[in-house]
Amino acid sequence: MTRGFYIGRFQPYHEGHHRVVEAISDEVDELVVGVGSGDKSHSTRNPFTAGERVMMITKALVDVDVVTYVVPIEDINRNAVWVSHVQSMTPKFDVAYSNNPLVIRLFGEAGVEVRQSPMFERDVLEGTEIRNRMVQDEDWRELVPDPVAGVIDEIDGIERIRQVSDTDAG
Ligand code: NAP
Repeated sequence: MTRGFYIGRFQPYHEGHHRVVEAISDEVDELVVGVGSGDKSHSTRNPFTAGERVMMITKALVDVDVVTYVVPIEDINRNAVWVSHVQSMTPKFDVAYSNNPLVIRLFGEAGVEVRQSPMFERDVLEGTEIRNRMVQDEDWRELVPDPVAGVIDEIDGIERIRQVSDTDAG
């Protein structure tokens, strides 16, 4: 039995992340999705709360054919103990999936196997691009799974991201 771990900020969870999850699900029996920067919300770069991102991901994963756990992970000030912090919050996992050099380095130093998880169509399937489209009233719905658009509508997310982008530099 192999349990994988995939970490991201998922601001928002989009089709690129979803394709990565589908690819990972061919390699593992169970998957823990870590919602990184769980303490951040209501800013241009991190508009959605951990709870809102848990909803997006949980609903989008309904049709994925592995057992999944969605766990928020708060940022901490010490990179050197971040892996222990993650492990203290998640079901035990055997392999971590990431493309982030810092994350790869920290897991590697902690003795955790890391596999790269490249994304596709990065010109459009990219969090910054999707958040910009939301602010500028351009089409973003085609870039996220349908249940994610439903959650963003439910929480009035477009109004929020427009408002915080007026007042917030980060
Ligand atoms: P991230 O900040 O979510 O993403 C960084 C960049 O990588 C974004 O452009 C993202 O695109 C992209 N990306 C995400 N998944 C990818 C994939 N599978 N293939 C290619 N590119 C991908 O960073 P992250 O690595 O995904 O998540 C790391 C989380 O751990 C963050 O919340 C970070 O704060 C946290 N962390 C905390 C500490 C600490 O507290 N000391 C230390 C290390 C990491 P999108 O915007 O499209 O997703």
